[in-house]
Amino acid sequence: MLTTTLDKDYQDMPHESVPCPLCDVPNDYVLAKRGYPDVPLINVLCRTCGLIRINPRMTAEGYEQFYQDDFFTYLNPYSRPAYIEEIERTTDDTYETPSKRLILPYIRDYVKENGNVLDVGAGFGQMVYILRKEKNVSFVGLEPDPGSRSVAKEKMGIDLLPIMVEEFLDTNTQTFDFIFMEQVFEHLLTPLATLKRLANVLAPEGVIYIGVPNGYDPQVPMALFYQLAHTYNYTPATLKKFADAAGLKIISIRDPLGNPLEALLARKDSSYPEEDASRMVAGSDWKDVARRLTRKQRINTLRSFGKKVLTGVFGNTGKERVRRVIDSLIRYRY
Ligand SMILES: [Zn+2]
Repeated sequence: MLTTTLDKDYQDMPHESVPCPLCDVPNDYVLAKRGYPDVPLINVLCRTCGLIRINPRMTAEGYEQFYQDDFFTYLNPYSRPAYIEEIERTTDDTYETPSKRLILPYIRDYVKENGNVLDVGAGFGQMVYILRKEKNVSFVGLEPDPGSRSVAKEKMGIDLLPIMVEEFLDTNTQTFDFIFMEQVFEHLLTPLATLKRLANVLAPEGVIYIGVPNGYDPQVPMALFYQLAHTYNYTPATLKKFADAAGLKIISIRDPLGNPLEALLARKDSSYPEEDASRMVAGSDWKDVARRLTRKQRINTLRSFGKKVLTGVFGNTGKERVRRVIDSLIRYRY
């Protein structure tokens, strides 16, 4: 899973320096210099606000090419047949896919019957399929990746627009009752500007769902957490800062210490009460975030070194046995 080879050497594409969208002042602490798929990639942490981002990074043209040409390979969903099988069972009413089991119960009450839904980065179209079935919504689904779009069309009969959200917003005149961004917000190149524009097309009592990896407590190895596609990473505290800066408020945050980090946002002038402040504290101290991520990276490095040693000494079967014993001793999850 960690050895995908991309068609192009993206590190050779033009790069640019990107200021922190929240602070605009350079005050970066370097967290990591490599990332998935094992490429040079500088992830920094803003010492002022705690936001994690790639800097410098490939220009917008480079990312556009990456999403058009390489993203499907990069994700390589067909190397995970169980995942594809799950997605394809979205149309089976008797089967609870992860989207139905984990996300739907969280958002159901916020999705208006017969409402208008915007799914940004709709993937295989599974969520718009589910929401159309559950709430009879009309929808616009955006998906720049051709591979994902063809699965959506073939398996779910869902037509998705082949464009990025910013391009869509340039000509869009609709308002939306619900905007869904599952594992998308961390991919955006201009997250604050885009969130502000999305806030402008949100109905007065509309809700935005954002699901992202949790930068305060990543549940994947750090070699995968830092990745080419994830231009930004968020904690509960930085998500709140984005909401505030976009004229929105967080009305619910779920699993602030789990993965993924999920939040529901609404307009500041809407009737929803704001989420309890104590649930949005994690990540407010940049040193705390830096310490946690650095520690986790060290554990991951030690672990992969240990794996190599164990394989050398015991071979693969013996290594697995020893790993299980060690895991049970340190209660390490992956
Ligand atoms: Zn900042």
